[in-house]
Amino acid sequence: MNITENAIRVLEKRYLAKDENGSCIEDPAGMFRRVAKAVAAADKEYVSEEELKEIEQEFYNMMSNLEFLPNSPTLMNAGRPLGQLSACFVLPIEDSMEGIFESIKNAALIHKSGGGTGFSFSRLRPKGASVNSTGGVASGPVSFMKVFNAATEAVKQGGTRRGANMGILRVDHPDIMEFITCKRDNSEITNFNISVGITEEFMNAVENDEEYNLIDPRTGEVAGTLNAKKVFDVIVDMAWNNGEPGIIFLDRLNKDNVTPELGEIESTNPCGEQPLLPYEACNLGSINLSSMVKDIDNSPEVDYDKLKTVVWKAVHFLDNVIDVNKYPLPEIDEMTRGTRKIGLGVMGWADMLCKLNIPYNSQEAVDLAEKVMSFIQSESRKASIKLAEKKGVFPYYDKSIYKDKDIKLRNATTTTIAPTGTLSIIAGVSSGIEPLFAISYIRNVMDNDELIEVNPIFKKIALEEGFYSDDLMKRIAKKGTIKGFSEIPESVQKIFVTAHDITPDWHVKMQAAFQKYTDNAVSKTVNLANQATREDVYDVFWHAYKTNCKGVTIYRDGSRDMQVLNIGKVK
Ligand code: ADP
Repeated sequence: MNITENAIRVLEKRYLAKDENGSCIEDPAGMFRRVAKAVAAADKEYVSEEELKEIEQEFYNMMSNLEFLPNSPTLMNAGRPLGQLSACFVLPIEDSMEGIFESIKNAALIHKSGGGTGFSFSRLRPKGASVNSTGGVASGPVSFMKVFNAATEAVKQGGTRRGANMGILRVDHPDIMEFITCKRDNSEITNFNISVGITEEFMNAVENDEEYNLIDPRTGEVAGTLNAKKVFDVIVDMAWNNGEPGIIFLDRLNKDNVTPELGEIESTNPCGEQPLLPYEACNLGSINLSSMVKDIDNSPEVDYDKLKTVVWKAVHFLDNVIDVNKYPLPEIDEMTRGTRKIGLGVMGWADMLCKLNIPYNSQEAVDLAEKVMSFIQSESRKASIKLAEKKGVFPYYDKSIYKDKDIKLRNATTTTIAPTGTLSIIAGVSSGIEPLFAISYIRNVMDNDELIEVNPIFKKIALEEGFYSDDLMKRIAKKGTIKGFSEIPESVQKIFVTAHDITPDWHVKMQAAFQKYTDNAVSKTVNLANQATREDVYDVFWHAYKTNCKGVTIYRDGSRDMQVLNIGKVK
């Protein structure tokens, strides 16, 4: 198995089954076998024993060849007693003490099992509103978010995976200003990503520099007005300050809600890529695009035949996950089996572009993004239709938009672009659709030894073209880009661009290209240089809005004390 040392370390720490003394009782191959077997078992009633073995082997092969990986909870929990396999959940919060604390309890159960939760706080009455039963006043959404945050802090997942949350408040909620600024100080509400739920009405008011109405969620009555442009400027200012809040376009999420009869979409999962109905869960999986390049007579091409085969198997796999999954609550069981949403996406996109000699920041790359993702979307739907012929459409099909179109799908959605934070480390490729973060970086290992990690595709070219040296790699790590190194050919400098070589425009264009062919949403961080201005942030938000993105998150380098990845710094 072609797995890096770094990947083995991550797997040993969190994924491989352990005995009561904490020693691993399986190796990576054993883990993939366990997962393949548990997931294939969903086919028991449909196929012969021999065919079942073949399905298990197919699943095993595509994971162990690192062509496809399911989200972390599936790798961790399939075939084990916990058996909770989904990464994404959305829970409702009702405007009552019972409702709020019921939701906190449910979130704790989900976090314990490795899932992340998203919530809309928009139904809660604003701060200062009266409480009938006590005669007191309500403390408002932001104060309850802090309670959710504290509960999350206390439930550390298996010692390592701390719970992740998304908190959303509609832009027309009376407490919106408090919400927008609630993470001004980065040490606050650390277990939440927050996003402002933006409406089309609000964006129109920003464009026209008008007032817009705040609505009391209990009565639906107008509770005040604010100037939209001023509110938008505060969102921009806060995002510039430390990356939060992000924004999500609620009306767009609902325009693409395929089961509107079942309810309104009011939130996404923690990283924003999966809009869901209350009590709905979704399992994700990602295809490693870096392994979908073939070389014909020294000319690299996308291997669409291989991609198609993997898409079909991946849809089969993710659909099976729904059946073998053990859901943490009966309501979630009911909703999730009812819509059967799956989220197939990609990782290793930047690596694929490097292999194809296409710069990330080019129209050619954006065009290819559309081509590859539309292929994945259309093949995944065909695969879902084929599954429906055998196993039936999703149970809520009659409440979906597909019944009028007579498209008999087994899954209400099939595509989502996840961040693949850990999956990409396991596969040893660039994460999601993000550009390369660094060409080389220095890792501190035990005894103060320094280890230089070099992007394997770059290393291969550097060795082939004769410009590789440890010293050069160290200097690249310190500088954070290969721009301007005279020993590196111009043609190579052009292809191996990193997140900070790329202007924000290209980040948004790439997100929009993938979004165009993704049923759910796209996880992407638009990286900005430290010197970026508030106007730059404003432009990014506006560009994302105008190009049909479902939301946008920015991060300005160095704008938080603690940042996960550093360039130009020895870690
Ligand atoms: P992975 O690579 O581990 O499969 P991703 O980085 O692709 O995960 O994230 C996908 C989703 O998994 C997130 O949007 C979130 O819903 C969930 N998730 C990620 N990290 C955590 C965490 N620490 N705790 C709970 N859920 C998480």
